[in-house]
Amino acid sequence: MSSPDRCHREPEVAQSMRAVRAKAARVCGGTDADTAVVLAGSGTAALEAAVASVVPPDGRLLILDNGHYGERIFRIASVHRIPLIRLEFGWMRPFDLGEVDRVLSEDPSITHVAMIHHETSTGMLNPLRAAGELVARHGRALIVDAISSLGSERLDLAADHITWCVGTANKCLEGLPGVSFVVGSHAAFDALGEVPARGFYLDLHGHYHSQEHLNAPMFTPAVQVLTAFEKALDFALEEGPEARGRRYDALAQAVRSGFGARGGSFLLPAGRRANSVTNIAVPEGLTYQQLHDALKDEGFVVYSTQDKLAGWFRVATMGQLVPADIEAFFEAYDRVVAKLAAPGERYLPEEER
Ligand SMILES: *Cc1c(COP(=O)(O)O)cnc(C)c1O
Repeated sequence: MSSPDRCHREPEVAQSMRAVRAKAARVCGGTDADTAVVLAGSGTAALEAAVASVVPPDGRLLILDNGHYGERIFRIASVHRIPLIRLEFGWMRPFDLGEVDRVLSEDPSITHVAMIHHETSTGMLNPLRAAGELVARHGRALIVDAISSLGSERLDLAADHITWCVGTANKCLEGLPGVSFVVGSHAAFDALGEVPARGFYLDLHGHYHSQEHLNAPMFTPAVQVLTAFEKALDFALEEGPEARGRRYDALAQAVRSGFGARGGSFLLPAGRRANSVTNIAVPEGLTYQQLHDALKDEGFVVYSTQDKLAGWFRVATMGQLVPADIEAFFEAYDRVVAKLAAPGERYLPEEER
């Protein structure tokens, strides 16, 4: 990011964009038959581009929803008036693939299925391989929001039968926010020319045509973030998703055993958790805000859970963390809980003291 500023219409930026597109496809296990379209915007930009651009007017989208982000796909598809069926399994509930099988068998109008790989709201890893095999057996296309899994969880375009894979720079790929992308095969991108655009700025085929055939971005890309992302992709490919997955998992195990030893309760049973997020109950007698503010004073930021999950908080093991960070976190956590739980002491944020 500290390299000299570059004009987005110059060949070096076009070259950098091509490199990022190829490397993003490789992170998904893609081959030369696959590519990526990169967009300026957070993960939701790429998600909206995919959902709004790939389902034809006479098609139908089946949404597998078991959390906040599953609901987001439903809301995106609804805004674009895409014919849809939403299967709501409930938060923290695993997919019922028998039900998905039944719905796909009974409704030939369904052309696409959309799902979240890592449902970040609850920290649940959804069964991508099994869902992909099922969708492929029915001959439908699969859209996967892999925004919070790509880079650290097992995912492979071909083996998981993914038609469209949506990712972002700033989660397990360890880049910076501002660039997101959609990966698919050249053949699938070319075929999008037949689907009328539902929007202008996030028209996936328009971006593909521009980036692939005109060798230029359709609009001004986030040049500096793209430069940083190319470097982040190099690091991700060098480390490899398996090694990164093991690294995150070891950190997550340290977080989980630390809270386990302190009598913490976990939102999900062990077998269903992704390796980058852990949801823990706020200790009795404290509020999330007190815990958050006191930990922040100690240099650690924890994250609240979304809407339906008040009373829980999230700890992420995503990014360049080392085991000593987790140890320091628990030292801070113990200090904070002892202080906040002491009788008669009310915790005041720094500015009110
Ligand atoms: C973070 C995230 C998104 C996108 O959120 P943005 O704020 O737009 O980056 C979408 N889906 C999942 C599963 C996520 O974790």
